[in-house]
Amino acid sequence: MSKTYHKLKSYLSKMRMFHIYQPLLLIELIKGNGKTTGNNIAKSFLSYDETQIDYYKHITKIMPFKVLSQHFKELKRVKENYTFEDFDLTENQKEELIDLYRKKLNQKIDKTGIKKIFGHRKLSSGVIPGSTRYKVLLRAKNRCESCGISNDKKQLEVDHIIPRTKGGKDELSNFQALCYTCNSQKSNKDDTHFKKILDSYNHRKKGCIFCDISKSKIVKSNELAFVIKDNYPVTKHHCLIIPKRHCSDYFDLYQPEINAISQLINEMKVELQKKDKTIKGFNIGNNSGEVSGQTIFHCHIHLIPRRKGDTNNPRGGVRGVIKDKQNY
Ligand code: AMP
Ligand code: ZN
Repeated sequence: MSKTYHKLKSYLSKMRMFHIYQPLLLIELIKGNGKTTGNNIAKSFLSYDETQIDYYKHITKIMPFKVLSQHFKELKRVKENYTFEDFDLTENQKEELIDLYRKKLNQKIDKTGIKKIFGHRKLSSGVIPGSTRYKVLLRAKNRCESCGISNDKKQLEVDHIIPRTKGGKDELSNFQALCYTCNSQKSNKDDTHFKKILDSYNHRKKGCIFCDISKSKIVKSNELAFVIKDNYPVTKHHCLIIPKRHCSDYFDLYQPEINAISQLINEMKVELQKKDKTIKGFNIGNNSGEVSGQTIFHCHIHLIPRRKGDTNNPRGGVRGVIKDKQNY
């Protein structure tokens, strides 16, 4: 009896599967008489990966079908079925046209390079480690951080907010979970539009006290936001959480900045309570607009630690912005 046959057969009962990768790799090796390539194996994984098929079904609708149906009124779509009405080509004409369209697509590949054409699908830092993916999805509570759809309905992808090629880091605050629709819409924005959004994260205003903050005042930071101590603290350890980008108030924040700020608020809460056991609560506050009391027009969130007895009657808390309404 063949030794290989015996080994491969007996492995069937031992194989613990975390995924379908192992059987697929072995099938490729068996098919190739003991030899295969990474390319073959990857293609075999892909043939099972419905999330990729879903992605390209979606792309078909929003990109080539959209353009072509504007040009050809015969081109119709009902759900996943595409039809070119009054189709009357002979076999020769079919062959000729396919050949011509192939030539056209090969010209594009030769000119641009296939890697660049599919470059937006590439994971910008190679593979994002599973543990990071897990943390990002956990933080996003398994929902797309742009549209809110759940992971069960649409596969979520972990995305670099600022791409590594633009200096973005591989840290939690620079990742977000996006469903493949939101992610593809982000990637499919033409380069100049996308570049504008990215550049806007670097916006700083000359003369703005928080844009010009000295590094030595920063207590803690992540990719998109930082923390400083408030110069005139309401209570001890009162601090401000501030987006790096200059924007005037809370309503101008981008979702990734809200995530970054929220992460810093949570980290500061834990740190402060570790350091100061008298802290028993917090007020988290933001003044948006002069009438609300805002004095510095670069968005910031106040994190104000609260202690027992720090005021006579704390009831109502932030309701105290209108003094005689605090207590109800
Ligand atoms: P707001 O009234 O919400 O605009 O809050 C501005 C906050 O910034 C106040 O709590 C001030 O105490 C604080 N503040 C003002 N100047 C500085 C500064 N140079 N560094 C740190 N905090 C400051
Ligand atoms: Zn500013």
